Parts: sequence; structure tokens; C-alpha cells
Amino acid sequence: MSKAIVIGAGVIGCSIAYEMARQGYDVIAVDKAQSPGQGSSNASSAVVRFNYSTFDSVALAWESFHCWKNWPEHLGNKQERYSQMIDVGVVMLDAPVISGEKTSQLFEAVGVPYEVWSSDELSKNVNGIDVGKYWPPKLLADGAFWEDAKHSLGAIFTPNGGYIDDPLLATQNLAQAALNTGVTFRFKTTVTAILREGNKTLGIEINNSEKIFSDIVINVGGPWSNQINALAGVGQDFTISVRPMRQEVHQINTPMNLLPGPIIGDLDLGTYMRSTPAGSTLIGGTEPECDGLEWVDDVDAVNLNRTKEKFEAQVTRAARRLPALKIPNAPSGIAGIYDVASDWTPIYDRTDLDGFYVAIGTSGNQFKNAPMVGKLMGQLISKVSGGRNHDVEPVRVRCGHTGNEINMGAFSRKRLFNSENTGTVMG
Ligand SMILES: Cc1cc2nc3c(=O)[nH]c(=O)nc-3n(C[C@H](O)[C@H](O)[C@H](O)COP(=O)(O)OP(=O)(O)OC[C@H]3O[C@@H](n4cnc5c(N)ncnc54)[C@H](O)[C@@H]3O)c2cc1C
Repeated sequence: MSKAIVIGAGVIGCSIAYEMARQGYDVIAVDKAQSPGQGSSNASSAVVRFNYSTFDSVALAWESFHCWKNWPEHLGNKQERYSQMIDVGVVMLDAPVISGEKTSQLFEAVGVPYEVWSSDELSKNVNGIDVGKYWPPKLLADGAFWEDAKHSLGAIFTPNGGYIDDPLLATQNLAQAALNTGVTFRFKTTVTAILREGNKTLGIEINNSEKIFSDIVINVGGPWSNQINALAGVGQDFTISVRPMRQEVHQINTPMNLLPGPIIGDLDLGTYMRSTPAGSTLIGGTEPECDGLEWVDDVDAVNLNRTKEKFEAQVTRAARRLPALKIPNAPSGIAGIYDVASDWTPIYDRTDLDGFYVAIGTSGNQFKNAPMVGKLMGQLISKVSGGRNHDVEPVRVRCGHTGNEINMGAFSRKRLFNSENTGTVMG
């Protein structure tokens, strides 16, 4: 039986480990944390939406949505508790960086049901929303932030999508499915070297001592992915770079059940909002230019507490859109780290070191895609191991639920920069 090592037991690492084991590989998954999902996955807002800038990304999200909807079947053996897909729909407000026309074309091509809403329809369908057009997003200190809107905006609505109620449980579900399929997990285990001989992968060194041999190693290290690539000595032929970035997500209860309906993506003001199962509202950011980006040099030294400044900026923007929101005095929320690719599109690929693969650059937008990314990487690895030259003839994967075909060349490390990307977490 061929052996494979997965580095990282986040939602994507666990999904890859599971799918590789289902294909018959003898899989070891290692993680420096003490349990699954302790990296980006645990901090995730776990929003499920289909608005991306390329066919393959939309198709990936649409297929993955169906995996979440059929979660117990996706996981195989029965488990005690399951995370749930909260299917409240998604309203994406108009903004110059996301062309409504392009989004509609992609939704048509992939088969995602959608409606284009005028501002009157938006106002009628989303209780209490202010439909003012405020673009571009501004700092609170900028007097123009407080000006009344002169125009109003519409939206694209997908009746499907929403969020996963418990991202940590979803990751644990995948880890349990992987265990049930024969994957061995080693926690509190840090990969300290990638073993290679010439251009061939030999395995990993852990905790500066023990060696584990395997001619297949997959880097699913989330925000640490760069460091792991450096250990392997890969990256020189990448056209797309990855870099960690700090991001905050805030939570408010004032009032409860502010957003019972669809989640809202609001690039016009620079935020996104979703409810939680308990009725609170999560508010995240969409990297508005005025805020600047918090790039990170040392992932392990990042302050994972929310700050007053970010809280005020994001929550006040959300209150502009949903005026019933009352801004609490005390900030609440968390900070997490994105592994941002230079075109905000992930890299799911082999590398120029034979046997060393990457599922990285998830850019704050791939939790939703984890179920299908496991299958994509499983197919890619078995085909490349079997001699396929993926760089020349990209692997294509047929989606089991939706019938679309995903061209994995779209996620190549050597792809042309995706110039259609929004320059934000939207991808
Ligand atoms: C604040 C925030 C909000 C987000 N919101 C959304 C959203 O709404 N929707 C969406 O689709 N996506 C969202 N994302 C993105 C999503 O969470 C990530 O794309 C996804 O969780 C990445 O999973 P992963 O398994 O690749 O990485 P991670 O979960 O980061 O796992 C990587 C693992 O690698 C381990 N590791 C690293 N280095 C080593 C080493 N040397 N040795 C051993 N182990 C190592 C770490 O311990 C970690 O457990 C968000 C992310 C953040 C941070």
C-alpha cells in the first residue's frame, strides 16, 4: 500500500487525509497542535457562498455545498454529532469590484440558482437594511463616512448557501471519518524538516528527531505553509506567492437575531455579516483599501485578541447597513490568520520536488470548499504518481453531485495571475 503524509490537521488537511485513505493510501496526518482544527479552521466564519471570480472556483464551492448538505453520507461511518449547513441563502450587495454581470454568467454556467435584486427588492427582502450606496469604504475618522448616500444599490441573491454552524465540529467530523478509514493521526508533532534525495521526496523529520519515510508528502499547513515550503526547498517556480495575514471577526448580541435571514456580503462598506445558531451576529472585514492589510512575519507571535480599533471600524460599518444594530461599548470577537495567495485563489498542486504537494494559499475563503478539496487533491496525487504531467495536461475532476468538471489547472502554482480576482477575501 502506498504511504502518504499530510502535514496539518485543519479542515482541509483532514479532508485530504480522509480522501487519500478512501483511495487506499496508508495515511499519517501530523499536526503540532494537540487536536484537529486548531489553526485557521477554528477561527473561521465558515461562510458558504458561491461568488468567486472564476468558473472553477464557483464550481468547487457549489459542489462542496452539496457535500455539506449530505454531510453524514459524505463522512461514511456514523458519528455521534454532526456539524450542520445552515442554508439561509446569501445576499451579495453590488460593488464595483464584483461585477454583477460576470457573477450572473458564472452562476448560469455552473448551475447555481440566483436572483438579481433591485434596491427596492433588496429593501423588501432584507428586513431593516439601509440600501444606500456608500462606495468606496472609508475610515470612521473620514468625515465622508458619515455622509448620507446619494444613490442606492441592488444585490445578487442565492437562495442556497449560508454557513456551517460549528466549524470546529465540522473539522472533527472529517478527522473522525479519516480515523475510521484508517488514517493515523500524530498530534503535538512538529515537522522540522522535509527529507529529500535529489529531486525526490523521502519523508519528514518530526520534533527535530524521529524520521517518517514516505514518497508522498502534502503541505496543508495553513498560515505556516510558507515555512513548510521553505523546509522542502520548493517555491522557485511558483508564479503565485503566499503570505500570512491577520484578520479579526467580531460578534455582537445587540440586538439578538438581528439577521435571521440570508447572510450579507457588503463590499460597498467593507464588511460581511452572518448570524450564529444562538442568534448573535458575526461581522468580518473584506479588506477595504482604506484599512491597510496586516501582513504577518511571525505567525506564532500574532496577537489573536480582537482590538478596539478594528471592532469599532467593522461594527460601525455593519451598523450603517443594519441601523437596528446597537454598538456595544466592550469589543468582542477573535483574530485569526489567513494564508493569502497573491491573487486570493488557493494553490492545489504538485511542486517541482517529486512527491511533494501543496494545498495552500486558502486566502480566508476555502473552509467551505474543504470537502471537495480532499477529493481534488486525492485525484491529483494519484494521477501525478501514476505519471501524468499535470503541468502540461491539467487534471480534471468530475463533480459527483453537480456534474461540473473542475480544471485543476485553475489552482496551479504556475497559473497566470487571476486578474479577475477582487483583491479581497471574496477571491
Ligand atoms: C478569521 C477567519 C475567517 C474565515 N472565514 C471563512 C469563511 O467565512 N468561509 C470560508 O470558506 N473560509 C473562511 N476562512 C478560511 C478558512 O478557515 C481556511 O481556508 C481553512 O480553515 C484552512 O484550513 P487548513 O486545513 O488549510 O489550515 P489550518 O486550519 O490553518 O490548519 C493548518 C494546520 O497545520 C498545522 N501546522 C502548521 N505547521 C506545522 C508544522 N511544521 N508541523 C506540524 N503541523 C503544522 C497547524 O497546527 C494547523 O493545525 C476564514 C479564516 C479565518 C482565519
